[in-house]
Amino acid sequence: MQIALVGIGKIAVDQHVPSIAASPDWELAATVSRHGTVEGVAAYTQLSEMLDAHPEIRVVSLCVPPVPRFALAAEAIRAGRHVMLEKPPGATLSECHTLEALARQHRVTLYASWHSREAAMVPAAKAWLADKKLTRFTVTWKEDVRRWHPGQAWIWQPGGLGVFDPGINALSIVTEILPDPIHLTAATLEVPENCQAPIGAQLAFAHPTAQVDMVFDWRQTGDQTWEIEAETTQGTLKLLDGGARLQIDGSEQGEDADALKGEYPRLYANLARLVARGEIDMDLAPMRHVADAFTLGHRSLTEPFHE
Ligand code: NAP
Repeated sequence: MQIALVGIGKIAVDQHVPSIAASPDWELAATVSRHGTVEGVAAYTQLSEMLDAHPEIRVVSLCVPPVPRFALAAEAIRAGRHVMLEKPPGATLSECHTLEALARQHRVTLYASWHSREAAMVPAAKAWLADKKLTRFTVTWKEDVRRWHPGQAWIWQPGGLGVFDPGINALSIVTEILPDPIHLTAATLEVPENCQAPIGAQLAFAHPTAQVDMVFDWRQTGDQTWEIEAETTQGTLKLLDGGARLQIDGSEQGEDADALKGEYPRLYANLARLVARGEIDMDLAPMRHVADAFTLGHRSLTEPFHE
């Protein structure tokens, strides 16, 4: 199937373009971006021009930041195209619900992709936790914003999510592997005084049997930490390296896996399956928790952030 990529920036170049190139299902047939192009691929700066020029391209994958995403997705859906959304699927929950209704109306596939859910050991973690009684659950997601988001002003603006941009990846894994629902009870958001979005967050959640705490921080230099630890009455599970590694009671499970390898190829395999079946996958659970944190969170101002 032919596919068009919209927003040729960091994640499109790092992951989408190589994953599409390696996929047996997809051919990159066009790009839409004001500044970016992919060698040998028809390039447009306006989505409307691409949609008009290429009625044969039935699928559009959106890699722009969250705020501009709704208008582009709605335009593609109204033009009868299937749409894949980078995470988070939008800037607000309501616009995501509107998009889903629009996709149903136009009978097209809409896929809210969560790349971290495709990390190698997430399914094994989910299977192990399915019949365990949880007593404590902690998420530690600490990384260096300057390393992963160089020069990206949008992440500090309203709708950019700040540290919840990576934090929502943790939440996408949590909402996939936990058998019981959780809901936020308290949060602290540390917001640089020259920014609109937090650089750090501490979250506490209610769970039927366990204490659940999460820490997201964008100020970690050196080694990066993307870890989930689940203590249960039958042992302790650790998901490390963003879900690429799994330990049960300290013993490594499965093969060594590169932290990111495989996530995006699996997303594009999922997309092919959804389009073939005419299905919608629009799970907004990770985004609900982020919205709750912005609703309930106590804000504390911290020192200004400069690149
Ligand atoms: P990015 O490089 O800053 O932006 C992607 C592209 O979107 C830009 O190159 C730009 O292309 C276009 N764009 C930016 N602002 C726009 C606007 N206001 N209107 C229309 N187009 C705009 O961002 P990114 O890191 O690739 O992230 C994009 C999405 O992928 C985000 O939702 C992010 O959470 C997600 N993601 C990022 C990473 C990562 O490691 N960076 C990992 C996983 C997921 P043109 O200027 O050429 O139009």
